[in-house]
Amino acid sequence: MTHILVTGGAGYIGSHACKALAQAGYTPVTYDNLVTGWQDAVKFGPFERGDLSDRARLDAVFAKYQPAAVMHFAALSQVGEAMSEPGRYWSNNVTGSLNLIQAAVDAGCLNFVFSSTCATYGEHDNVVLDETTPQHPLNAYGASKRAIEDILRDYQAAYGLNHVIFRYFNVAGADPDAEVGEFHQPETHLVPLMLDAIEGKRDGLTVFGTDYDTPDGTCIRDYVHVCDLVDAHVLGLNWLEQGKESRVFNLGTGSGFSVMEVIEHSKAVTNRAVPYTIGPRRAGDCTRLVSGSVRAEEELGWRPKRSTLETMITDAWRWHQNGSYDK
Ligand code: UDP
Repeated sequence: MTHILVTGGAGYIGSHACKALAQAGYTPVTYDNLVTGWQDAVKFGPFERGDLSDRARLDAVFAKYQPAAVMHFAALSQVGEAMSEPGRYWSNNVTGSLNLIQAAVDAGCLNFVFSSTCATYGEHDNVVLDETTPQHPLNAYGASKRAIEDILRDYQAAYGLNHVIFRYFNVAGADPDAEVGEFHQPETHLVPLMLDAIEGKRDGLTVFGTDYDTPDGTCIRDYVHVCDLVDAHVLGLNWLEQGKESRVFNLGTGSGFSVMEVIEHSKAVTNRAVPYTIGPRRAGDCTRLVSGSVRAEEELGWRPKRSTLETMITDAWRWHQNGSYDK
């Protein structure tokens, strides 16, 4: 039995990763403090409740399972919150990750898969965002993730910590079996907010700014299906198991969609109107974040299968109507 320690395994992406790991024959061990995660989402392996700041707890979990690798998802990840409470982002994300990384090294667990973000790139006019693009994050969320990338590089040099860093673009969709899905409280992400608005669970969606330099004035993002994203993580794990070099990969499809286009697609998929109003820009938002890289396809053999807007919204809608978690 090969255990993989999955921090944030009770969260949106982490829970999907646990399912993908279990399907690939691994035993995912979820380590999660349940501040934003859900115990109900832990369905595919053992659960260990704990905080990244708790070194003794981390040491006990490493000793108990002797994991072959860590997949590190646990993080605070909201742009708005990062602008208003940057200290929490530096403390939870950076200090917490440093604690985890040190515990992994001390336990002799030297394979590490890290979830980073395209928010580390920041604003770049008309530049293709690939893994060599300079990183100038606009908010403490992106900055905290960039700092953790730096820590991993230093730990590679000092202690041989082999790592794969994935810079996610916008993750959407849900498990097509609706066993797990996206459920944040409070919710801040576009697709689930839009589905809530369609169902009348909130007054309506606010579109954050229509004065950006894009064809319809709204921000453009590159949306990737959560199941495709976690498939890449299993490939990243295999990459490390094969003893390949530490590497950074963007995970996006290379196609950008504006907020208005996402609204239009949601109308078409659900056959329901999306109530929305236009609001001001949200602080910390970049105009356009689209991946310009095929490295994951070429080197990892990653082939996104469900990352069309239609499929992402269809899967999210199915989950939205059937699934939720209780604390
Ligand atoms: N967005 C919006 N209204 C909302 C939430 C998001 O217009 O209530 C926009 C946001 O400005 C961004 C896009 O939708 O351009 C995706 O935002 P989300 O928070 O889902 O992901 P992020 O890009 O911050 O990772």
